[in-house]
Amino acid sequence: MIKKSFCKNEVSLLGMGNMRLPVGADGKIDFEGAAAIIDRLYNNGVNYYDTAYVYHGGESESFVGAALKNYPRESFCVATKYNCRANPDYEAVFNEQLKRLDMDYIDYYLLHAIGDSTVDTYLTNGCVEFFREQKRLGKIKHLGFSFHASLDTLRKMIDFGGWDFAQIQLNYLDWLLNDAKAQYEMLTEAGIPIVVMEPVRGGRLAKLTPETEAELKAAHFDWSIPSWAFRFIMRLENVKVILSGMSTVEQADDNLATFIGGKPLSDDEAELLLKVCAEFKKQISAPCTACRYCTEGCPMEIDIPEMMEIYNRYKLNGRGAAKAIEKHEHSAKDCIACGACSEQCPQSIDIPAIMAELAEAAGSN
Ligand code: SF4
Ligand code: SF4
Repeated sequence: MIKKSFCKNEVSLLGMGNMRLPVGADGKIDFEGAAAIIDRLYNNGVNYYDTAYVYHGGESESFVGAALKNYPRESFCVATKYNCRANPDYEAVFNEQLKRLDMDYIDYYLLHAIGDSTVDTYLTNGCVEFFREQKRLGKIKHLGFSFHASLDTLRKMIDFGGWDFAQIQLNYLDWLLNDAKAQYEMLTEAGIPIVVMEPVRGGRLAKLTPETEAELKAAHFDWSIPSWAFRFIMRLENVKVILSGMSTVEQADDNLATFIGGKPLSDDEAELLLKVCAEFKKQISAPCTACRYCTEGCPMEIDIPEMMEIYNRYKLNGRGAAKAIEKHEHSAKDCIACGACSEQCPQSIDIPAIMAELAEAAGSN
């Protein structure tokens, strides 16, 4: 397992993101299935486990604490996050998190999903002072933030100062088309180490078009498609952890094969990837990462990421929207355009507009 020095810890470059754990028919975490993933990773050198107050409706933290109970506390690092929208009472949240995790301290603590509309709340509501005090008391070892916003907001965070690390969305698609490269460079210049989230963009970069995959397979027939995305990020020295939200043991095995002895892309391989990426990009209409931040507040109980997936397929094929939507009790047709979802979306997707377009398409095909 590739290891890196990160805030004086030796951490595995591959980290486990606990937001897409396997669930049972009741929607609750399938403890046995999810714990099997953790065991496989731990036993192969993964020692960084990321969760958050809001993941799996609050269940993820309790799961992570229970699943890691078999292992010595000092042999792994846990990261979790305070989300001011989910519950502004940072003191209550923090105490609840320690209880859920059943731990005395948290290795990496983050302000969750800094956005252009939430940055001022995070910086003025007293939470930073409170978390810095917890750091002084040893209950937080390192304090940082996760980020989904503009470069101006990133500058504001950097200038505020005192951060041990930052977590950003970085993958070859965002590197080429969005601000990922500029964010990486700003943080690196400021001396702030980086944790990467969404390295395969919520699974979008795990499956490309047949033509694109053929080009990559021609270069390395034995590399999986997600492996290209990870190897692209491995080129970046200031990235200390790459989080992957693994849902199956098979995914864990595939990732382990990349991170145990795997090498970063060469310059020629990176060039090839960015070339095929430009082609692939033309096929994506709604850049949804399936993070599900939007779903909880939807008064019509619409499975919004599923609708985004249907929308992307529809834009690609120009048909099939009606049939795909029919299968869902609550669908784009039920959207009342309240906008609650868009406020939560880190990818700034105009969800009501897409719902309207999808509903119209479903009516006509
Ligand atoms: S705009 Fe539509 S999809 Fe979004 S929260 Fe409101 S009803 Fe749900
Ligand atoms: S629409 Fe936005 S908030 Fe909802 S799952 Fe997709 S990326 Fe996440």
